[in-house]
Amino acid sequence: MAGSGKFFVGGNWKCNGTKDSISKLVSDLNSATLESDVDVVVAPPFVYIDQVKNSLTDRIEIAAQNCWTGKGGAFTGEISVEQLKDLGCKWVVLGHSERRHVIGEDDQFIGKKAAYALSEGVGVIACIGELLEEREAGKTFDVCFQQMKAYADAVPSWDNIVVAYEPVWAIGTGKVASPEQAQEVHIAVRDWLSKNVSAEVASKTRIIYGGSVNGGNCAELAKKEDIDGFLVGGASLKGPEFATIINSVT
Ligand code: PGA
Repeated sequence: MAGSGKFFVGGNWKCNGTKDSISKLVSDLNSATLESDVDVVVAPPFVYIDQVKNSLTDRIEIAAQNCWTGKGGAFTGEISVEQLKDLGCKWVVLGHSERRHVIGEDDQFIGKKAAYALSEGVGVIACIGELLEEREAGKTFDVCFQQMKAYADAVPSWDNIVVAYEPVWAIGTGKVASPEQAQEVHIAVRDWLSKNVSAEVASKTRIIYGGSVNGGNCAELAKKEDIDGFLVGGASLKGPEFATIINSVT
């Protein structure tokens, strides 16, 4: 843990679940014993946010998986930050690789969303990460720094941002980055923040890792100095395993 504040664990439920399965997951989370020194956030699909907010313990905060770039209005299919706040969301996940590479969102669009969410007092879980071919071409740092720059160019402050390093080749593949691979990027991103934003932001900002984190590999990853938490996909759909990950803080 290098950033200030608590270890931060987010569960990204993606486009999964039904009213019934989510009710079971919430009840598993409500009955789990969670380490007190960890910030815990879950990001349900939009349509279940209200259900989760009304049934989940207040110990766990709610994030949205996306938001619109500004105030609501004639934007068919979009969800505004004001609406997310109305439902009790404290966070929004932005720049996730599935939004970048499956849906086609670019750095500027993501930056605009981040700036707007922050201006409305909603925290941003700002994802970055390289594709396998970019890693193999030795471009991991270039790609991550470019994505960081797009956030830095757009946001007025880093006070309410958690950076999530999620190598695309590790997401949903079962191929987790080794603790050394993750640490190497985390410290480089912290160094980038120090040089390009400020030393204070670099030392305060939490940089969490995502990509095939599970109950078996979290403890080793959590030991690394610059890993300040996790963003968990698949394993966050299983309450007891998600609790193990939350409790892996060292
Ligand atoms: P995964 O997803 O844990 O299923 O690899 C992580 C993420 O996409 O945030």
